[in-house]
Amino acid sequence: MAADRKKYGINTEAVHAGEARHTGNRPSAPDIVMSSTFVVDEEVSFSANNLTEDTPWMYTRWGNPTTRELEERLAVLENAEDCIAFASGMAATTALLFQVLGQGDHLVIANTNYPGTAEFARDTLMRYGVDVTPVNTNDLANVENAMRPETKLVWIETPSNPLLRIADIEGISKIAKAHGALLAVDSTFATPIATRPLDLGADFVVHSLTKAIGGHGDAMGGSVCGSKELMAPLRSEGLSHYGGVISPFNAWLILRGIATLPMRMQAHEQNAMALANFLEQHPRVDGVIYPGLASHSQHELAARQMDNFGGMISFRVADGKALAERMMQQLEVIHYAVSLGHHRSLVYRMLTDELALGSYALEGEELESYRALAGDGLFRFSVGIEDAEDLIADLDRVL
Ligand SMILES: *Cc1c(COP(=O)(O)O)cnc(C)c1O
Repeated sequence: MAADRKKYGINTEAVHAGEARHTGNRPSAPDIVMSSTFVVDEEVSFSANNLTEDTPWMYTRWGNPTTRELEERLAVLENAEDCIAFASGMAATTALLFQVLGQGDHLVIANTNYPGTAEFARDTLMRYGVDVTPVNTNDLANVENAMRPETKLVWIETPSNPLLRIADIEGISKIAKAHGALLAVDSTFATPIATRPLDLGADFVVHSLTKAIGGHGDAMGGSVCGSKELMAPLRSEGLSHYGGVISPFNAWLILRGIATLPMRMQAHEQNAMALANFLEQHPRVDGVIYPGLASHSQHELAARQMDNFGGMISFRVADGKALAERMMQQLEVIHYAVSLGHHRSLVYRMLTDELALGSYALEGEELESYRALAGDGLFRFSVGIEDAEDLIADLDRVL
């Protein structure tokens, strides 16, 4: 459920939302409260099941003042009633999937997405008695046809890894609702600057804060935002019992990162647009996928659903192995490394056999359409906020 929580403009909220009013020395920047336990002056239940909004600070696995500032800021940016921070994107993802799903339940999930999520759904959830149906979410009919009476959750990712597919959040949320299922959206590639999934009917929005939200490649974190009703059991069970809590120091670094998220996303988009155009015109490049390009097969949906096309580009060349080797040896500015959304540009080759056959276990038409776009591998390029001319020169040299 969406809640309009923004009192000020997005730039102001990114700097100030969730700020606690500090007493004592009254620091202007947030304090980092690293304490794992808190001195209490009243009787407090020792069970996380009895956690309420009024429970005082007790133990950092249940809640922490610095972490709370981060959660409040994320909730405001996502128009959510509440938000929970986790130790990583995967800690957020697995806590949510384990907490919502149980034996006999059914999950409908996008068939190309973050590999960790795909592998967890297939290898782990299936082992715990959850049935999983991966579908290509580009066609809403695939989602509709996969729904069953026991479908409890639909999980989508938009834009998705690494094909940059755009899932129609509003359309899929209607299907989920009609079947009494919840909808979770991994919105890591979009960030709340581009898309607010809860406003479009989603029940959960999931982020790897390690990526653009933290933005500097120096702190891991994850989050799930949604209604208070859905967040309460996720906090007591999914956070406190599963235990994937974020370090308050990382929460503080990510809070600091968020202050510049709106302007970084503008810079990411502007640079990505320039690089996507450069790559599309380059004779050595066989294909470029970027939601901001008119050539993207879902460009119209992207323009409707996203206020910012983001900084992620995927592209392919004829001899990807040789280019990857040149990149590792010869790139000067861009780092040949995984991860994404950082101020630094990062590029990494995602092998089709490893992803499409391994992580996604695609077959038949789905495998063919993956190969048609990705060939034997896609370079996933996270365009940073450096000068576009320097990024173009760096790539041009290795191409
Ligand atoms: C990185 C990523 C994750 C996992 O996040 P970690 O912080 O690495 O655990 C999940 N989903 C998407 C889309 C990601 O890019």
